[in-house]
Amino acid sequence: MIRIEDKQICTGCYACLNICPEQCVSMNNDNEGFWYPVVDNERCIDCGLCVKVCPIINRVEYENKPITYACINNREDIRLESSSGGIFTLIAEQIIACGGIVFGARFDDNFNVIHDYVDTKEGLQKFRGSKYLQSRIGETFKEVEKQLEKGRKVLFSGTPCQIAGLKSFLDKPNDSLFTVDIICHGVPSPLVWQKYIEYREAIAGSKARRIAFRRKDEGWKLFSISFIFENDKEYIQTYKSDLYMRAFLKDICLRPSCYNCQFKTLNRDSDITLADFWGIQNILPEMDDNKGTSLLFVNSKKGLGMFEEIKGNIISKKVDINEAVSYNLAAVRSSRYNPKREDFFREIDKLPFEQLINKYCSNSVLIRIKRKIKLPIRTILKEIGLLDVIKNI
Ligand SMILES: Cc1cc2nc3c(=O)[nH]c(=O)nc-3n(C[C@H](O)[C@H](O)[C@H](O)COP(=O)(O)OP(=O)(O)OC[C@H]3O[C@@H](n4cnc5c(N)ncnc54)[C@H](O)[C@@H]3O)c2cc1C
Repeated sequence: MIRIEDKQICTGCYACLNICPEQCVSMNNDNEGFWYPVVDNERCIDCGLCVKVCPIINRVEYENKPITYACINNREDIRLESSSGGIFTLIAEQIIACGGIVFGARFDDNFNVIHDYVDTKEGLQKFRGSKYLQSRIGETFKEVEKQLEKGRKVLFSGTPCQIAGLKSFLDKPNDSLFTVDIICHGVPSPLVWQKYIEYREAIAGSKARRIAFRRKDEGWKLFSISFIFENDKEYIQTYKSDLYMRAFLKDICLRPSCYNCQFKTLNRDSDITLADFWGIQNILPEMDDNKGTSLLFVNSKKGLGMFEEIKGNIISKKVDINEAVSYNLAAVRSSRYNPKREDFFREIDKLPFEQLINKYCSNSVLIRIKRKIKLPIRTILKEIGLLDVIKNI
């Protein structure tokens, strides 16, 4: 039976819970808020399926040659609601138009993130936009299997480890299954997220009614996180200043497996990979209006078929994969382990949220000095040969 001895190897994909014929695998939260499988020994029949299904223990390497595009959805309203170029919605609408069903990540009533499914265009709204914490898969893999058995087309979207979990659960390829993964920086702790919500609600004196991680009020590149509270107060802050986003991007509270992610590769398990096209202003400035441009990898024949179908509704241009990925190293490299991570989690219940983040996620004095050094001081330092010295500190 599955037993997690090294937390770095478990991505929390739920494949073992979904496969268990006796329903004796449950997912329990650890003290950092991440879930891991626990087997009920009394009911376990030792069939070994939970080990056989694990996509990390039984890693399948794919080999494909992705074709890479910069893409923009022609519908600006959808693009502004989406994290990058709004391509996920177009793919999902295509599946729904064929009578299919779409699985994705949405908020529940308490702003936890869970996987769910919809089969209407209107229903897609709740999947739009990145939610920067780990999504609970629940029993959705079993639901995918049921829908495929009924002969329905299914789109499943999620992180690369979730796609690997689903494929391992299903075991055999299925022509009716279409998968979309993302380039994933890593997933932060749901516990840190809940503490952040409590902190924001205490300041507002009201429960949150709506939360968005990727508002584009200040532009796509300087995206903002926003809360609207039941008392109509609003909080909006760019990712650089927001406490939660600082913790996320400092890599202090990611799932342990994210620091050694097994899915950092250009050979993807999915049919299409979606990401932000960081660096678009340098590669194709004509496709950068700061409202969001997607980087899209076509990874399979099915992916190519889908790309042909949505092509009429997007602006797209082929790009060189290596050049594109040079601005988005999260495609091929795990986030770096933050050496302060253990201390951060040791103090999570001891320090007030703001103090915790300020203690562990502040930029060092040198980084702050570097950021302050803009032109023309930058130019002067370059002239006198000091810029490289500062860069290397
Ligand atoms: C945790 C996380 C980390 C990411 N890291 C990067 C990165 O480092 N670099 C990069 O270029 N892009 C990253 N992305 C992807 C990027 O933010 C966009 O999601 C992607 O470009 C698709 O954008 P879109 O405009 O086409 O559609 P959108 O409507 O923005 O995409 C929505 C899609 O994201 C899925 N989704 C949303 N939240 C989650 C979640 N918590 N877990 C699983 N699936 C989710 C939905 O199911 C849906 O398929 C990340 C996304 C997430 C959720």
